Formats: sequence, structure tokens, C-alpha cells
Amino acid sequence: MAIDIGGTKIAGALVQPDGTMTATTRRPTPRGVDAEGVMAAVAEVVADLSGSPLWSSAVRCGIGSAGPVDTSRGTVSPVNIGAWRDFPVQERIAAELAARGAELPTVLAGDGVAMTAAEHWLGAARGYANALCMVVSTGVGGGLILNNQLHPGPTGNAGHIGHISVAFDGEPCVCGGRGCVESIASGTAIARWAREQGWTPSAGSGPGGSGGPDGADGPGTARDATAAGVAAAAAQGDPIALAAFDRAGRALAAAIAASATLVETDIAVLGGGVAAAGDTLFGPIRTHLAQYATLSFVQELQVVPATLGTHAGLIGAAAAATMLLPPSASSEPSSAPAPTA
Ligand SMILES: [Zn+2]
Repeated sequence: MAIDIGGTKIAGALVQPDGTMTATTRRPTPRGVDAEGVMAAVAEVVADLSGSPLWSSAVRCGIGSAGPVDTSRGTVSPVNIGAWRDFPVQERIAAELAARGAELPTVLAGDGVAMTAAEHWLGAARGYANALCMVVSTGVGGGLILNNQLHPGPTGNAGHIGHISVAFDGEPCVCGGRGCVESIASGTAIARWAREQGWTPSAGSGPGGSGGPDGADGPGTARDATAAGVAAAAAQGDPIALAAFDRAGRALAAAIAASATLVETDIAVLGGGVAAAGDTLFGPIRTHLAQYATLSFVQELQVVPATLGTHAGLIGAAAAATMLLPPSASSEPSSAPAPTA
């Protein structure tokens, strides 16, 4: 069972051992309600799932959520769900499941870690024992696969690559640090920097705007649409727009190289609305990577796009449950190649 909680929607599905999703359902994330109002939408998603004939065959439940998360306490405080601060979502979902006869083990994962689990199970990081996966969108998140294991860390926040510094005396970041990757390479930062340099959407965004590469990215589309406009302008050769993506790509390259040098990752997988700009972003990353990934054991490091797209949240929640919860020997057939989540 997979439940994915984001700023625009709350989704659920029953996920088969091969990744096939059934009983997929969703609700818009409620606005202008209190914590219980948001929880009511989650309960509706659970109720929908319980109507599936496969409900009773689920053996574990993965919960993916926008961050910040604290998996040691099972709580979330999503930036874009203001009604939830330290909300005990894991305990509350477990209670909803139990009330419907499904007393399942549950696990909570932040969206960057869930995306990483998804890409390792069925996406671009499949087959790689050591991988860094990243979501480059309005913010920059990520997660790590080390030795074929998901590495969420004690509170679920390992892989927080958006807030490592790549410019130690750089601009202040919203997190309190300086020169963070996110403050240079997020969609918000790319658009802001381009505007500061004199770029305007009318100067070359063309058909970009809201229909640009961020169209499917959900939360913050209006802000990301501006980065999409920069991407569209870059694709048309606008020098400021190209410089904005070169700068972002350089920051990402430095961070990716540092991570690989630290833990010997073989591949970096990038998803999210900004990564959807394709070669406009990946070109500069690959160019600059050679400058930072210098030691022999990281020179073969690959940087590739994520492949799971819109379903990464649900697939990731299921994958995180499979990777982080022990097999339940009593309730699943031993012949199954991978447990149902
Ligand atoms: Zn920061």
C-alpha cells in the first residue's frame, strides 16, 4: 500500500511486486482547513483503497510525504501544507488502516528519499548499488542508495543535497546556511538570478510559461513556470538564460561530485521540473562535472534523468516500504520475488 502526500494532492494505490499500481486514487490537498481537515482527505484515500478486492492482500504500507519529515517520530511539517506542523501522520494512518482491518507495518519517507527508492526499484538507478537521486524543482531534495540499501538516516533526512554548500561564503540560504545548492539551482533561484541579470519572460520565453517543462510538477507551478520560461529562452539561445542554467548546472555538478567523492556513488539521477529542461540543464552539469569529479574513482560518474515521472511518489512510497520494513514471513508467499507493498 502506497500513500503519497504532497502540497497539491494526496494519492494512494495498491502496488504489486512488479510495480503495477491498482486502485489508484487521489484527493486534492485541502486548503484553508485545520490539521484534521487535511487528515480527513488522507482518510478518504484510505477508504477508497479499502474498497479494492486486493485490500486484504497488502502486507505493508509506505507513506511518502513532502518535507520536512522526522521519521524517528513519524511526524511531518510539509512546507506547503501549513496546517500540519509535527503532525503524527504515520500513527494516524496506521490507525486508519487498523480501523479498516489492515494492521500493517508502516514506514514514513520524505519525498526525496521516496523518489530515490522509486528510481532504484524501477527507474534510472536500477541495478546501481550506490546512487544519488535528486529532485530539482522549486526546491532541491534527494536521497541515497548505498550498497543497494536505501539510506534515509536516523530522521529520514539523509541525502539533503539541496542544503549542502557549494559556495562557502555565498548568499544566505533560507535554511540559515550560505551558498546552498538550492539557493543557486532550484527553479526559484534560476528564475530569480536570470531576472536580476536583466532577463524578462517576454525576452524569449515564447510558448514556455505555464506550458513549459514544469507543467507536470505540481506544487509551485506558477513560480516554477518562470524557471520553465528561462529554460525555453535558453533553448532559443538567450545568453542570460543560458548563463542561468550554466550556473545552476555548475552548482549541481559540484554537489554531485562532492557526494560521489564522499560515498562513491556510481550514478546521479535527477528528476523534478527543472531537470525536465533536459540538455539545457544536463549539458552544463556534465561539462562542469569534469572540473569537480577529479579523483580516479569518480571520473566515470554518470548523471542521467529520472524516468518515473508523475508516479514516482506512489512507486517510491511502495519501494521505501519494501526496502525499509522487514519481510513479513507469515503473510506473503515465499515464492514472491519481491514483497507487495
Ligand atoms: Zn540551505
